[in-house]
Amino acid sequence: MRQQIILGFDPNIRFECVKCGSCCRIAFGNVIPLQLYPQEVSKIRRMGYGDSVIYIDHVHYIRAVDSHCVFLTDDYLCTLRIRYGWSPVNCRLFPITVKLINDVFILDLNWDYSSKVGCRGFGSGPTIAERFKDLEKLLHEVAEYVYGNVY
Ligand code: SF4
Ligand code: SF4
Repeated sequence: MRQQIILGFDPNIRFECVKCGSCCRIAFGNVIPLQLYPQEVSKIRRMGYGDSVIYIDHVHYIRAVDSHCVFLTDDYLCTLRIRYGWSPVNCRLFPITVKLINDVFILDLNWDYSSKVGCRGFGSGPTIAERFKDLEKLLHEVAEYVYGNVY
């Protein structure tokens, strides 16, 4: 990867998602506060879910209904993952947040949202450092979105 990475957290923190779906069940107003890249918006529209995207202050978000993501099933699963084996990269990165500025990835942990949703993934499983290869794949995807190679 040609981009540099700056970590805003201790990579020895242990995290393993327990797939509780809580991060898909807290809405801010009528949106889930995870930003979509424009290419993801196009993809969601092509899947036939254009009404599920909301545009606020130049940013696209997934619509929330009754305080949960419109794609969350009654079993707390993601409709997009079930039907298409895909979900927006910021959903997959959570609780890590990523900004790519001037070829530098700035990674942080979204403590505020994690504590609001009661994320139970912290403290167990491998360290984030041990999962860096997986994380790099997601960063590569972000780079493709930002540099415009994925449509
Ligand atoms: S709240 Fe945390 S543990 Fe639960 S699904 Fe989201 S990331 Fe995974
Ligand atoms: S798109 Fe899927 S993973 Fe993302 S918030 Fe909605 S239900 Fe959760």
